[in-house]
Amino acid sequence: MNLVDRFGRPLRSLRISVTDRCNLRCQYCMPEPEYVWLPREDVLSFEEISTLADAFIDEGVDRIRITGGEPLLRRNLPILIESLAAKKRIADLALTTNGLLLKTHAAALKSAGLHRVTVSLDTLHRDRFRALTGSSDHDAVLAGIDAAAAAGFTPLKLDTVVIRGVNDDELIPLIDFARRVDAEVRFIEYMDVGGATRWSPAAVVPRAEMLETIGRHFGGVIPLGGQGSAPAERFLLPDGRTFGIIASTTHPFCSDCDRARLTADGIWLLCLYASAGTDLRRPLRAGATLEEIRQLIHTVWSLRADRGAEERLGLDRQTTLIPVRALKKDAHLEMHTRGG
Ligand code: SAM
Repeated sequence: MNLVDRFGRPLRSLRISVTDRCNLRCQYCMPEPEYVWLPREDVLSFEEISTLADAFIDEGVDRIRITGGEPLLRRNLPILIESLAAKKRIADLALTTNGLLLKTHAAALKSAGLHRVTVSLDTLHRDRFRALTGSSDHDAVLAGIDAAAAAGFTPLKLDTVVIRGVNDDELIPLIDFARRVDAEVRFIEYMDVGGATRWSPAAVVPRAEMLETIGRHFGGVIPLGGQGSAPAERFLLPDGRTFGIIASTTHPFCSDCDRARLTADGIWLLCLYASAGTDLRRPLRAGATLEEIRQLIHTVWSLRADRGAEERLGLDRQTTLIPVRALKKDAHLEMHTRGG
């Protein structure tokens, strides 16, 4: 019988963070002046990641997404991609990147067997990009998007975190931009995850408001339905274009969540909002067999009852999820360590 958790949710997708380092300092993710990093010796080798992936695959995973931090900062990433792409039961192998280094790596990632790329793009304005991310290299992201398309990663996905007063006037320009680069844009509601220390309820632009703005401009939107366990709801515009909305804050999708998250140092999280996870690095380095790790994964998933975003929805959220002093004590609480 297929493995399911206490709410009947299967284990299907695995997000692997390959580094906690990032070359941007996005205000919604890493706004603090300083961070505590994972000890380098704890970061899993590609061989260790591949072994853990095998154990997850044995328990039902058939989709893997590589993330970070910024995954393209991890040296020789195509080597890992090649070993994951060779696993026969993986139906979907994707990467989420901020795009800064994509121009350099797109072709090698494609040759290594990566199926899909998602680029985070929050603004089309250079000055806003600088204010939002601390980097003046907006052109590099745009060049990365072009390079990904040229390497054959089409259609691309673009992820935009929508923040009131920051980029909520760019919904229409981003849909237009996505069409020009053969991409589909997905608007993400700003979430109060660990690390989002500047979050406030007022900064969230709810799905309903985004749909109203987009529908008014284009003359209506049609929900496409059938999203399954995918977080984005997709919509069709009268001119045939599509876009997505990930309403993680106002309409959480915990009941369909089939995701496991592995941090760069091998901590396995059952939920983006979890306060702790299961250490898989220790048993692996202590010589546990693949079968023992598979059994551990089986037991932990079968006891899973997390529904973090739904629980947050029920709270009176006037403050951020995790205070800065707690983040300083445990980097695993940070979104950039969990991989988003
Ligand atoms: N560096 C890569 C990137 O920028 O895509 C991968 C890691 S990043 C943590 C993964 C995703 O998390 C990005 O799409 C980012 O926009 C999203 N993210 C980070 N903080 C968020 C927040 N507070 N609310 C919503 N999405 C967030």
